[in-house]
Amino acid sequence: MSIAPPVTLPSSPSPSPSSSETSQVLAHNYHPLPVTLVDGLGSWVTDVEGRRYLDLLSGYSALNFGHRHPSLVAAAHAQIDRLTLTSRAFDHDLLVPFAEALAGLVGPLVAGSPMVLPMNTGAEAVETAIKAARKWGYEVKGVPDGRATIVVADGNFHGRTTTIVSFSTDEDARRHFGPYTPGFVVVPYGDAEALAAAVDETTVAVLIEPIQGEQGVVVPPPSYLPAVRSLCTAADVLLICDEIQSGLGRTGTTLASELWGVRPDLVTLGKALGGGVLPVSAVVGRSDVLGVLTAGTHGSTFGGNPLACAVGLAVVGLLSDGSVQATAAALGTRWGQRLDTLVSDGLLASVRRAGLWAGLDVPDGRMTGRDLCERLLAVGVLAKDTHGSTIRLAPPLTITADELDLATDRLELALR
Ligand SMILES: *Cc1c(COP(=O)(O)O)cnc(C)c1O
Repeated sequence: MSIAPPVTLPSSPSPSPSSSETSQVLAHNYHPLPVTLVDGLGSWVTDVEGRRYLDLLSGYSALNFGHRHPSLVAAAHAQIDRLTLTSRAFDHDLLVPFAEALAGLVGPLVAGSPMVLPMNTGAEAVETAIKAARKWGYEVKGVPDGRATIVVADGNFHGRTTTIVSFSTDEDARRHFGPYTPGFVVVPYGDAEALAAAVDETTVAVLIEPIQGEQGVVVPPPSYLPAVRSLCTAADVLLICDEIQSGLGRTGTTLASELWGVRPDLVTLGKALGGGVLPVSAVVGRSDVLGVLTAGTHGSTFGGNPLACAVGLAVVGLLSDGSVQATAAALGTRWGQRLDTLVSDGLLASVRRAGLWAGLDVPDGRMTGRDLCERLLAVGVLAKDTHGSTIRLAPPLTITADELDLATDRLELALR
């Protein structure tokens, strides 16, 4: 793939509103960067004026394999010409193969014998895990009906449904969407003692991101996840890891929880599971837990549809020999050294990183995260700010070393 020539930064980036923000009919629930894309291939996207950009957001990790990965596009095309939707009223020929392939990839990384429950969006996978944990709590653990609690961490991001925003600590995400769903206890992230203190006989699960992506790629202290695992085991509480953003290769491992050798009871997957083609999510975990969901107790019209299974199977295929993960880990180490140099040169306040995933903090007073994203846009790199002075970078796992170097050169240019 060709590499675009270096670009110089205009003296003052001109932030203009995007067409979606000025539209009278499109709801204004996003503040996108002023760019309108028409085309994408690999790590590159092209806008309406023919300008090319390196995509370092990757659809919040939904595009882990880049834009239009040939094997994912081929799987989708072939399936569109065969069978696209059956509903779960009938089986189709890819449903069990998809479940078995995903169980083959992720099963060895979770506790117990694995079961797979396919859904569509990430929030639905989280809702599914919450429902399964509560039902398991009542029917297996013996928690009195209606009393189950789930412990979550502050700074969490698990999606946008009314139940999920009920335990968000982000005021914008939560305010004026009540009344809120009860049954959640929020504790500080990274503090295993606070978590232990919040667990009692009504606790059915701990729901946690092994690394908090939306919060700015916040990596907990090394002892945290293992400590959470042991206290969950000791208290007969389910450990649910939300790996919707951290999973499927992003951290240089199949799951982020592998970084600490921790096996969750349930894992939620989404984003990259759909290969950037369509929404595909799943809960993978202990069959004695997911097994409490019987016919009629939970479902989805589109969950596990033939097109989703075809693409999901191809995604699992791309991750099955571990080479994508290993390449991401190696590229990430190299990239991390360059990012650390930007910190020691004073261009960045701090960097947190795992695999090909980084949270960058812009120094106080220099510029905001949004300013940096606008400057990056001007030099041909797409990224998105999160929480004021932080931007999160998540290059496609298929990015080449040359492309990543070029993107980092441009980042340095934008910071200077
Ligand atoms: C994106 C995300 C979700 C929600 O996924 P949607 O597909 O947007 O519903 C949940 N959890 C985490 C960790 C995420 O990053």
